[in-house]
Amino acid sequence: MAQETSIPGLYVHIPFCASRCGYCDFFSVTDMGLMAGFMLALVGEIDACRGEFREFDTVYLGGGTPSLLPLQQLERIMDRIRRVFRILPGAEITIEINPADWRRDELFAVRELGINRISIGIQSFDEKELALLGRRHGREQALRTLEDAAASGFDNLGLDLIYGLPGQEFRQWQASLVQALAFEPAHVSCYELELKPRTPLGRRYEQGEFPVRTEATQRDFFMKTSEFLEGSGYIHYEVSSFARGMGMASRHNQKYWDHTPYLGLGPSAHSFRDGRRWWNHESIGDYIRDLENGKRPVSGREELTAEQLALEALFLGLRTSRGIHLGQYRSRYGIDLMAEKGPLLKDLGRAGLIDIERDSIRPTRTGMAVADSLALL
Ligand code: SF4
Repeated sequence: MAQETSIPGLYVHIPFCASRCGYCDFFSVTDMGLMAGFMLALVGEIDACRGEFREFDTVYLGGGTPSLLPLQQLERIMDRIRRVFRILPGAEITIEINPADWRRDELFAVRELGINRISIGIQSFDEKELALLGRRHGREQALRTLEDAAASGFDNLGLDLIYGLPGQEFRQWQASLVQALAFEPAHVSCYELELKPRTPLGRRYEQGEFPVRTEATQRDFFMKTSEFLEGSGYIHYEVSSFARGMGMASRHNQKYWDHTPYLGLGPSAHSFRDGRRWWNHESIGDYIRDLENGKRPVSGREELTAEQLALEALFLGLRTSRGIHLGQYRSRYGIDLMAEKGPLLKDLGRAGLIDIERDSIRPTRTGMAVADSLALL
């Protein structure tokens, strides 16, 4: 059984969006009338977790659109979290921001709440691409939000971008990257557009409205993006994540990749501890109802077997540049990878997908590009 190795992280899901983007399959609703009930329920859930988790060194306010919450509500959440849990000195506290609904004066106020990292959902600087994605903001709003964020003194500033849009050429994508780097962000996340069937864009794709994207094209974008950002001084430390030095890597996200415990609050949020995973209702009504009835709003749970944990650790580890430390893997999961999969790993090494070092295996850039299939080894 995997043992806890470090301090847990806290995730809070704010399930509101002013409108739904065409590619998104995260849980959120557009009915702001549910906000008051949600806030009461969230405070109840925070209280209900007292004792189960005691301290955190990362807090992540995600969504949904946390920046839609009025400032007083953000303050209420942070205050309750701090009353119930110990947030360690130096904790990384992140909020996701949508350029469509953020104002400069609020950025200053957010800093006052102790939030020290912002992650801005820019996605693209191209008007046509933003429209295709169904984003509510345009290029000018994206630029202004980044300028404001820099002016308000956030030095740990991250932004999210999406590539691989239908018909997009690399030079168009690179223009967004170049524009992003002009702000010298500490962190850049580059997500390949996934056309999931339950999203409007996914349905349009299934109806044949967009050309089929070949794996070779996707890989080409991935490789060139990695080369470009690494050539610009960023470390490609996880399949989608780049940081200007490992000190700027997302401490919170790293917990998801190495089986560190985390608590997720809010509808649809997932939690993990000691090989157990559980998740909340993907419905604000069910979430509120359970908490009103004094119940935890959990809709499902699973206990991972030792084998599942080991496989998951392999899958997640091979998505990060740090890779897998063989000794730590052996002591945590009871498996000697070189003894059990030595010939296969050597084949992957010869194919240029992983580097095998004395005490660890790490994916190469090419390996990261096919990280999902590497895990099937
Ligand atoms: S991408 Fe973000 S803003 Fe758009 S619908 Fe999803 S959660 Fe809401």
